[in-house]
Amino acid sequence: MRRRDFHKGVIGLGLAAGAAIAGSGASALAGPNDKAGTDFLVEPARRLPVRQFDVLVAGGGTAGVVAAIAAAKQGAKTVLIEQKGYTGGIITEGGTALHSFFNVWKPYPGVKKLQLVRGIPHEIIESLTKMGGTSGHAELSMGYNHDSVCLAVDVEMYKLLSHTMLHESGVYVCLNTLLVGVVKEGQRIKGAIAESRSGREVLCAKSFVDCTGYGDLAAHAGAEYTEPNDYPLCNSMGVANVDIESFCKNLRLSQYAEGLRSGREGRIVRFEGSPKVEGVGMRLTTTTVHDNYMMFVKANVGGAWGKGKSWHVTDRDAITKLELEARKGQQELIALIRKVPGCEAAFAARSSPSLNIRRGRVIKCDYDISLKDVLGGRHFDDDVMAYGFHDQCMKIGGGGGSYGIPYGALRAANIENLLVSGMMITSDYKAHQSTRNTVCCMGQGQAAGTAAALCAKKACTTRELPYTDLRKALEAGGVYFES
Ligand SMILES: Cc1cc2nc3c(=O)[nH]c(=O)nc-3n(C[C@H](O)[C@H](O)[C@H](O)COP(=O)(O)OP(=O)(O)OC[C@H]3O[C@@H](n4cnc5c(N)ncnc54)[C@H](O)[C@@H]3O)c2cc1C
Repeated sequence: MRRRDFHKGVIGLGLAAGAAIAGSGASALAGPNDKAGTDFLVEPARRLPVRQFDVLVAGGGTAGVVAAIAAAKQGAKTVLIEQKGYTGGIITEGGTALHSFFNVWKPYPGVKKLQLVRGIPHEIIESLTKMGGTSGHAELSMGYNHDSVCLAVDVEMYKLLSHTMLHESGVYVCLNTLLVGVVKEGQRIKGAIAESRSGREVLCAKSFVDCTGYGDLAAHAGAEYTEPNDYPLCNSMGVANVDIESFCKNLRLSQYAEGLRSGREGRIVRFEGSPKVEGVGMRLTTTTVHDNYMMFVKANVGGAWGKGKSWHVTDRDAITKLELEARKGQQELIALIRKVPGCEAAFAARSSPSLNIRRGRVIKCDYDISLKDVLGGRHFDDDVMAYGFHDQCMKIGGGGGSYGIPYGALRAANIENLLVSGMMITSDYKAHQSTRNTVCCMGQGQAAGTAAALCAKKACTTRELPYTDLRKALEAGGVYFES
């Protein structure tokens, strides 16, 4: 683990007295590429157009979509920057199914079935289901996640719906726009530097929310972070021309869920297992909402689970090599899938635009959720949501319980006006196996976006925001609290 000095190339821009630009194009090269040579170029200063907003959300993925909608619903003039040409993030690229809005699938003595995550994440899924774009909430009926709930989504419909909802909420959506730096004054961020084909500009705001997954905004702003590098990377492909029922029959199943597929109930929508077919040596987890299609088949590359590696997810050259390895792996997987009866004509119908990460930078926040908090079902005085799913089926609150995400876990340490949400919170590997799941990230997004808007309205820092005000706004936004 190490913390790289991401903003060492500080260049004065002459914006406001004392303002400095951190993480410019020059400083973005700080890191492994520093070793590539000793030649450097000092960029000449440039006049950049400046625009003003109340709230800026960086990253329009799983958490960011919800954060931006939440901020706009509070009346904040909100801008969202997303580097790709669509919104949705890993939900649309590689995360298999959404886990989980509920604590358990079936109630049992002493444990009621509860929908813990509501609010905007629930509204999104309700609308998507009406469009025919989900499997519905489905029971995981076997394996290490048995008795929990998953929901598969049509990824193209998710892209369309999330962008439409952002637009209808009044968010100023900047797609194909990369965040490349920040303008800071003391411990306060003044603006984000963004680049697109329309040029380079400064998007100023009163409050900022980092939902980039990688923690790019926080790192540019000089936040403390670590890079644990403790997951393999993966490119997740969609495989067409597969007979799902036959494929499943030929697997030693370790996960299974039925739901809505191609408009029909009771069809297989998620499964995991290894083929019984001789000569086929792979284990596969996938999700689908369409006949003859496996939406997510993952080619993992670059190392073991839970162990640090010598390269970093922010190391461009290492990742470029792994991108190639993953694409080779995908074609090897296709060759294996074709050996399964009913899948002889399988082909890769889509792939992720770039490798998916399970975590990148972990940003230091005022509070760091521990495994003890998760398993102990701990709720905090500053809870912003309740959550009840763990990736490895670890029993939360003794089983079927929930824990709280505290507001402090979303406040970047030492920066006055920056909140973070998504996979970049929680340093403990096993606690992160709960907080990183999609539905938890979406709930965090609602909390961070709401808090950012309130801070902008009250002209206060994230630490000065009275919790009672945040709680009231979240409750009005449909968020469920356990205590
Ligand atoms: C392979 C895989 C399988 C998974 N399986 C499951 C599962 O079965 N169930 C489950 O619930 N969870 C699963 N997860 C976990 C879950 O999907 C993620 O933890 C969660 O979606 C992360 O959300 P996020 O908002 O933090 O990041 P993302 O959804 O990745 O959003 C980040 C967004 O920021 C944008 N961005 C990044 N940098 C910049 C920049 N500099 N400028 C502008 N935009 C930027 C990105 O393009 C992206 O859209 C899985 C994850 C992976 C990788």
